[in-house]
Amino acid sequence: MMVADSKLLAIKKKLLKQRQDLLAEAEQTLTSKISTEKESFPDPTDQAVAELDNNFLLKLRGREQKLLKKIDEAISRIDGGTYGVCEDCGGQISIKRLEARPVTTLCIECKTRQEEEEKMQAG
Ligand SMILES: [Zn+2]
Repeated sequence: MMVADSKLLAIKKKLLKQRQDLLAEAEQTLTSKISTEKESFPDPTDQAVAELDNNFLLKLRGREQKLLKKIDEAISRIDGGTYGVCEDCGGQISIKRLEARPVTTLCIECKTRQEEEEKMQAG
């Protein structure tokens, strides 16, 4: 059973919004960082600012970068028609779970098992 198109579209919208928010937030962090640096170095070269722009994505914090990647992957799965399929067992992920956590790639059974395994590894 595939996820209904209307649901899929709503999830995609949500993902795009989340992506936008994440980038806006990161940009804000970066902007405040630049202005802080301007205060300590009153005369920054344009080159330095350009380099900051180039490294924009690299400067995203790890957690944000990971989430952004997950969002991009989820969007491409939606576009490719493979969204909502568990990447472990190949089963259908419930729509409730997808709506609650759109970037998920595992059905609840596989996720629960994975968490239990992680707990065991952590000791
Ligand atoms: Zn599964």
